[in-house]
Amino acid sequence: MQSSVRFPRVNARRVAAIAVVALTALIAGSLAARQQEASPLTGFSPEGAQTEAQWEQKFRAMPSTDNMRELMEFLSAHPHHVGSPYDKEISEWLVGKFKDWGWDTRVETFQVLFPTPVDRVVELVEPTHFVAKLAEPSLPEDATSNQQSEQLPPYNAYSIDGDVTAPLVYVNYGVPADYDELERMGISVKGAIVIARYGVSWRGIKPKVAAEHGAVGCLIYSDPHEDGYAEGDVFPKGAWRPPDSVQRGSVMDIPLYPGDPLTPGVAATPEAKRLDVQDAKVITKIPVLPLSYADARPLLAAIAGQVAPERWRGALGITYHVGPGPAKVHLRVKSSWDLKPVRDVIATIPGSDAPGEWVIRGNHYDAWVNGARDPVSGLVAELEEARALGEMRKAGWRPQRTILYCAWDGEEPGLLGSTEWVEKHSAELAARAVAYINSDSNGRGYLEAGGSQTFETFANDIAKDIVDPETTMSVWRRKQLHEIASVSSDEERNRIRNRPTWPIDALGSGSDYTAFIDFAGVPSMNFAYGGDEENNGVYHSAYDDFYWFAHFDDPSFVYERALAQTSGTAVMRLADTDLLPFNFSDLSNAVSGYIGELQRLATREANRIRERNREIATGEYAYLSETGGRPAVVPQPKPEPQQLDFAPLQAARDQLVRASAHYQQNWERARQNSAFLTRGGLEKINEELFHSEHALIDPNGLPGRPWFKHQLYAPGVYTGYTVKTVPAVRETIEQDQWSQAQQAIASASKVISNEAIAIERAAVDLDTALQ
Ligand SMILES: [Zn+2]
Repeated sequence: MQSSVRFPRVNARRVAAIAVVALTALIAGSLAARQQEASPLTGFSPEGAQTEAQWEQKFRAMPSTDNMRELMEFLSAHPHHVGSPYDKEISEWLVGKFKDWGWDTRVETFQVLFPTPVDRVVELVEPTHFVAKLAEPSLPEDATSNQQSEQLPPYNAYSIDGDVTAPLVYVNYGVPADYDELERMGISVKGAIVIARYGVSWRGIKPKVAAEHGAVGCLIYSDPHEDGYAEGDVFPKGAWRPPDSVQRGSVMDIPLYPGDPLTPGVAATPEAKRLDVQDAKVITKIPVLPLSYADARPLLAAIAGQVAPERWRGALGITYHVGPGPAKVHLRVKSSWDLKPVRDVIATIPGSDAPGEWVIRGNHYDAWVNGARDPVSGLVAELEEARALGEMRKAGWRPQRTILYCAWDGEEPGLLGSTEWVEKHSAELAARAVAYINSDSNGRGYLEAGGSQTFETFANDIAKDIVDPETTMSVWRRKQLHEIASVSSDEERNRIRNRPTWPIDALGSGSDYTAFIDFAGVPSMNFAYGGDEENNGVYHSAYDDFYWFAHFDDPSFVYERALAQTSGTAVMRLADTDLLPFNFSDLSNAVSGYIGELQRLATREANRIRERNREIATGEYAYLSETGGRPAVVPQPKPEPQQLDFAPLQAARDQLVRASAHYQQNWERARQNSAFLTRGGLEKINEELFHSEHALIDPNGLPGRPWFKHQLYAPGVYTGYTVKTVPAVRETIEQDQWSQAQQAIASASKVISNEAIAIERAAVDLDTALQ
């Protein structure tokens, strides 16, 4: 999945225009600049670095755009969702391919709950009658768009079954702030069906929040304002969503736990103890269906009542009203709730010196429909890497560490394949996994890198060695220019120019790295090229297919090649290096930044509550909010915010900063000491390095969601994909739970302090080894 939650975008066009100007001006000098940027191979002995550089050069010349085009055409030739015939065929084909390329290959199968729709109805029953089509028509020029009999029709997986008829209320994006606005307007959704537009939050948040406010049904539609003709020409003329296209997708409560809903925390093997379906908390409380904008328009046009606030208005060319009613809608959803197999394909090249240390790479292969972009654009890169690594092995390359290449099934419904695999192997992963490198949808654009902050310098180093296909500057430089173009002040621009690295994004959720980092504590990275929303014009629809991709996303497949070069280089470098390139100063900088943010957030939130309570007490409140000229409905005041004591977090931060600085000092000595790096025997230190992420795991998990164990990163309970850093502290402050926030500060401090201890141990052991 991995996508489309960034609406509404802030001036992306303008930013893109600036970036193009900046890029053009800089292309001339870029080749010279690349020479200066190219990173030294850190962590290798001088001979090792030379050999590595030669192998890497060979590797980066191997991924072929013609191969990837052919692979995509084959892999997206038919719909291949979980449990479909083509999904199974692909799994078998993948096994054959990996074996041909010289990999030891096996399939690991799990039995997971995957509902597929048997009955879907959305009709307007008052004041007029209209029946929603709920279907995507085939297009003559698009050869695979007519495979309706093989497709899953548009639906939201893990919607509960239901049959409701109720007045309709428009709730904008359907996030908590929209319900605050409705409350001020005096509008309740109790007993209503809500209609929310896609965007801002992950889709699964919308029915969750609607149900919390008493709604009985939820419709989610694509508004052309951010997902259609207001953005650009629609498919097949352009890349954007046509009127009847629907975004399918899961509405499972992934922020509670991903994977099979019936086996949280354990692998969904045949003998696993399973919850009853009605006890699986991740299934929605109310029925949900997705709509195209052609189907949504008559429903929205029939709503009356107050006119929607300006920010809520889309591009349907109607006056947006909020309701409730007089539009009344009948919504019926029924699914077949079967267990279906997910088949993960796992291919291995054994390590020569440290076979017990695993470098893991993965991308999913299942799709909602044909899935040329999501996920095949990332999968073809992974496959070309695997072919290239296989050929290099035949030519004599021997990675020190074991390499695992994984093709995950069942990602789209809820990260099923990867989560079950991680749950099954969590003890081995904790002991052996050096890193997990993920990709998913990919396209034309700049590099987006996310991951554990200990890999920030490493990811920057890799990016300096990859050539951007459009500009021929390094992808590192192009990304830096993008960062410069996205900020608004000279001060920020100069700060970015003067930084030796750009930051990598903390990981939330939305793809298969989730279980690795959040459940198992494996240091993880995610790579993708893209960055233009146009890439997602037909996201999760029947038109995300080869015709669309080859016309509008990356017609020359050069960014799939760039992804293969990026991820493959990262895999090789981690598998071959003598001393692993973890950088803890990047981590301690990031953590210091998070703690500063949390303190400012607490102050801001407390001030906001005090101000609001003051407005309520003085009677100002009703006249200070915009509610279409009417006085706002006045809520109850909130309890007085509690003063939080951040001293424990500050102390833990200082400890982390000291330990990190100590380690980095010794790392600098080590990386320049060729005799030391050549003599080997670094297993213990390497192990301490890749185990360090595990210190950030609390086995009890986050408050209210024990599956999520990482204490620095998690997807937000009310945002979905978007990351919340130091989530236990941040979310309790955001939800005004002050005493829980104080407890969360204590537990987060403990974990950060444990991390500092782990880093200090590595620093001391490295020092001793250097003697
Ligand atoms: Zn995907």
